Amino acid sequence: MSKIGFIGLGIMGKPMCRNLLKAGYELVVYNRSPKAIQELVQAGAEAGESPKDVAERCEIIITMLPNSPNVQEVILGPNGVLEGVRPGSIVIDMSSIAPITSREVAQVLVHKSVRFLDAPVSGGEPKAIEGSLSIMVGGDPADFEECSPIFQAMGSSALLCGDVGAGNLTKLANQIIVAINIAAVSEALMLVSKAGVNPETVYKAIRGGLAGSTVLDAKAPLMIERRFDPGFRIGLHIKDLNNVLETGHEIGSPLPLTASVMEMMQVLKAQGLDQADHGALVQYYEKLAQKELN
Ligand code: NAD
Repeated sequence: MSKIGFIGLGIMGKPMCRNLLKAGYELVVYNRSPKAIQELVQAGAEAGESPKDVAERCEIIITMLPNSPNVQEVILGPNGVLEGVRPGSIVIDMSSIAPITSREVAQVLVHKSVRFLDAPVSGGEPKAIEGSLSIMVGGDPADFEECSPIFQAMGSSALLCGDVGAGNLTKLANQIIVAINIAAVSEALMLVSKAGVNPETVYKAIRGGLAGSTVLDAKAPLMIERRFDPGFRIGLHIKDLNNVLETGHEIGSPLPLTASVMEMMQVLKAQGLDQADHGALVQYYEKLAQKELN
């Protein structure tokens, strides 16, 4: 079994590492703040000194970082993966970033005969812990096949979506649909609430029909209970929608609905809610209608 390097031990990276250890992989881990490294060393991983050191010691290097600049820094920056990585290795970036950055990083790595897959995930912390993430991959089919057992240790599905960048494009599509769906649920429930009809009854009445969705089932009950602890933070969703808008503008694919929901999220961020769950979008409508949902 190849030794795996894992860089970025946050909400997602830590449980993903635990599942790799459970599956029998040897791990060398690195993170900016050292506390997470120690936790994983106690679970059986080796500590890395830097991204360069991790890359020197492993043939497969996974990154799970917040956004494009972090991935560029860790892979291409000083003391980064590029400085230590050996020809023939594979870098798998599982962060949700701009597809153009995935392609740029891959183009640099290829000069050192290093292969690259972009493989963002959906499912959040609970599914990262369970090992049942959905993994969307871009890259070469043979590299994807080679890494399939690694994906299986962290997820319940891994699908090759196209060339490098296609994994992150798929993730952007996912984030558009989730954001607009949450806005639609908020708008609809606020209407009935303002009109004096119980939003919970409306939710139960419509969830089995065409308006039913995973988002409706996940978010409507929390909105009705006014529970906004994350989950998936508004700040992270803003990051994803930024990547959506930049990508769409670059290729000439307009995104009017995404742009509207982005501005709603910006209002909430300005009000200090960027750490709240993205279901807190209903609070935007509460302010407009001057009424709490429930
Ligand atoms: P996080 O902020 O909890 O973790 C990121 C980790 O990266 C932190 O531990 C940080 O210390 C480390 N880091 C940042 N810059 C670094 C650097 N230069 N060198 C070394 N370490 C560095 O984020 P997360 O929630 O784990 O999310 C990671 C990625 O997964 C993001 O792209 C996010 O959008 C995506 N994602 C998150 C969720 C979720 O529910 N949290 C769900 C799906 C996808």
